[in-house]
Amino acid sequence: MSYSGLVLFDIDGTLLRRAGPHHRQALVHGIRRVTGLDTTTDGIPVQGMLDPIILAQMMRRAGAGRALIRQSMPEVERAAERYYRRVCPPLDRKHCPGVEPLLDRLRRRGFLLALVTGNLTRIGWRKLERAGIAQYFRYGAFGEMAATRGRLVKWAIREARLHHALPAHAPVLLVGDATSDVIAAHENGIPAIAVRTGITPVEDLAALAPDYLLRNLREFRLRMAEGHANRPAGFDKNIVDILRQQA
Ligand SMILES: [Mg+2]
Repeated sequence: MSYSGLVLFDIDGTLLRRAGPHHRQALVHGIRRVTGLDTTTDGIPVQGMLDPIILAQMMRRAGAGRALIRQSMPEVERAAERYYRRVCPPLDRKHCPGVEPLLDRLRRRGFLLALVTGNLTRIGWRKLERAGIAQYFRYGAFGEMAATRGRLVKWAIREARLHHALPAHAPVLLVGDATSDVIAAHENGIPAIAVRTGITPVEDLAALAPDYLLRNLREFRLRMAEGHANRPAGFDKNIVDILRQQA
């Protein structure tokens, strides 16, 4: 089967909201468990940030040097993930409006669905399992897999082409609630659909000129995904040339 396109979804503020303090607590726990440092996420603009970058800032603020941060990071990440898997509550009532009908509709139309999120891998999957929507997503690009969200998007697109047979000119787009989502999409030359279900002020999103700016996912229309085939430059001219040769 060949997919009709790829839709990349952010998690927090896009698919789920008000998921509780457990994610922040897991980061605090992971650092304390591995380094003994007492930290907090207070004052760190975690919205749209990658978890490893949040962890590094937390540790730096608690006085950790670069070497300690680098050396302890993999273990801190694992400890945070283990903790989160233990404490994550049911999230089936924390969906953003319109999530499940939209995922259903996209799947029925043959879209490949994947995640691009700053969450650590096992935290992200756990959230979606507890929300009852993990089964819609074939794979994900998670916080520890690249240094920036833009690179996560790049990896996710490559993955779709290499391992999921996404046709070369099939549409690809990203749905997210933060400015970093819009920037990451545009860095990769794909359309951004911004939703106002997170905490980012609407003016900040509008300033980046996303391709669509929606109140929530109920306003998502399939044409927004289907109307954006990423045709290479010169595509139309090539077709004209081929038709001429056949004539
Ligand atoms: Mg988000």
